[in-house]
Amino acid sequence: MTRSKKPASSRGPQSAPARIYFADIAYESAEPDRTLPAKFKRMLEKLALEKRVKEKSVTIKMHLGGHLGYTTIHPLFVRLLVEALKTAGAKDLKVMDNSAKTAFMRGYTHEVLGCPVIPCFGQSGRYYYREPIGFRGLDEALLSGEALDSDFFIDLAHLKGHGDCGFGGAIKNIAMGIVPSETRRKIHGLEGGLVYDADKCIFCLKCHRACPNGAITINREKKKIGFFFHNCTYCQHCVLACPKKAIRMENRRFEDFSRGLALVTSAFLKKFAPENLLFINFLMNITIFCDCWGMSTPSLVPDIGILAAEDITAIETASLDLIKTENLLPNGLPKDRKLSKGKGHLFERIHGKDPYLMVRYLEEIYGGTRVYKRIEVK
Ligand code: SF4
Ligand code: SF4
Repeated sequence: MTRSKKPASSRGPQSAPARIYFADIAYESAEPDRTLPAKFKRMLEKLALEKRVKEKSVTIKMHLGGHLGYTTIHPLFVRLLVEALKTAGAKDLKVMDNSAKTAFMRGYTHEVLGCPVIPCFGQSGRYYYREPIGFRGLDEALLSGEALDSDFFIDLAHLKGHGDCGFGGAIKNIAMGIVPSETRRKIHGLEGGLVYDADKCIFCLKCHRACPNGAITINREKKKIGFFFHNCTYCQHCVLACPKKAIRMENRRFEDFSRGLALVTSAFLKKFAPENLLFINFLMNITIFCDCWGMSTPSLVPDIGILAAEDITAIETASLDLIKTENLLPNGLPKDRKLSKGKGHLFERIHGKDPYLMVRYLEEIYGGTRVYKRIEVK
C-alpha cells in the first residue's frame, strides 16, 4: 500500500544547547543498583515518559541483528524501556525491525520484551508510504507504514562503525532501517568516487594486490575489476598501482551516501512533531561493522554507556565525541586492518569516511543542534 501521510513538521535550527542524559557504564560500587540497567531505569524516570506517551501508540525502532550476531542492544534494556512505557500509559506498543522474523533466535520475543516484535512493512511486506527525495538516483524513499502510523516514535540505536559512512547510530537506524530493499538499493547507488575504464585495463590485477582493504572485486570471466565501496578508504593505492591509468579518483562519493541517509532520515522525522520523538543511543559493544553483517566481533573501545535526548543531531554528535581513538582495544580491528595515520575520528581512521559528515548534513536538512549539555544520571 502506498499513500502520503500527515503534513511535514520540522525541528528547525536550535539556539540553546540540547540536553542529553548520560548513564555512564562506570560504577562506583559492586551493587546492582549502581550498574547500568538501574541507571537506565533512573534515566527513563528523568525523561518524564508519562507526559510524552500517555494514550499514544508507540513504535520502538531498533536493529535486531541477524544470523550469529549477539552484539546488539541486550533484551533486558528493551524490556526495561517497554515496562516504563507501559507504566507511562503508552498503548499499542511494538518493537520494529526489518529482521523481526528471525529476532527470536537472538532473544527478542514478545515474552521477553513484553510487547510484539513486528516487521516494518506489515505482514504483506508492502505497507509503506512514498516520500519524494529528489537527490540523484534517490528520487523517493518508501517509509514504513507501521512506523508512520504511530503517534510516537522511539529511535533505539546501537552505535557501531560502518564502512559506507563511518558509523551507524540513530540516523542510520532510520534511513536504512525503516525502508525496504528498493530504497536501500537506491541509497547504496549513491556510493562511488573511483572511476574504472575497462577499455584501458589489461587485467594485471596490480590494483587488487595494492588495495589494503579488499575493496577491489574481480570478475575473471569478463576480465574486469569492480569496487566494494563499503571497504574503500579512498587511499588511492589502486590509482597509483595501475600501469594503464585505468582507475581514477573522481571524488569522495561517500559524501553523497551520507547525504542520502540524512535526507531519508529527515523526510521520516518531519512526519512527527518534535515532542513525539525520542532518541536513545547505546554505546556498548561498539564494533567495527554494522549489525546487519550477521556476526559479532570484539569491541573497538570499552563500553561507554547510554545517551537519551529529544534531539537526534545532538545525540549523534555526543555519541561520536565519546568514542576516542586512544581507547582502541587491541582485538577490535581484524588482523588485516590497520588504523590510518593522521588525525580524525577513530571511525574515520578505520573506514576513511568522516562520521560527523552525516550529522552535519542532518543538521542542515532537518535541524537540531550539534551543541549539547550532558547531564549525568547517577
Ligand atoms: S582507493 Fe584504496 S581502499 Fe579504495 S579500492 Fe583503491 S586501493 Fe582499495
Ligand atoms: S591495475 Fe589497472 S590495468 Fe591492472 S587490473 Fe587494475 S585497473 Fe586493470
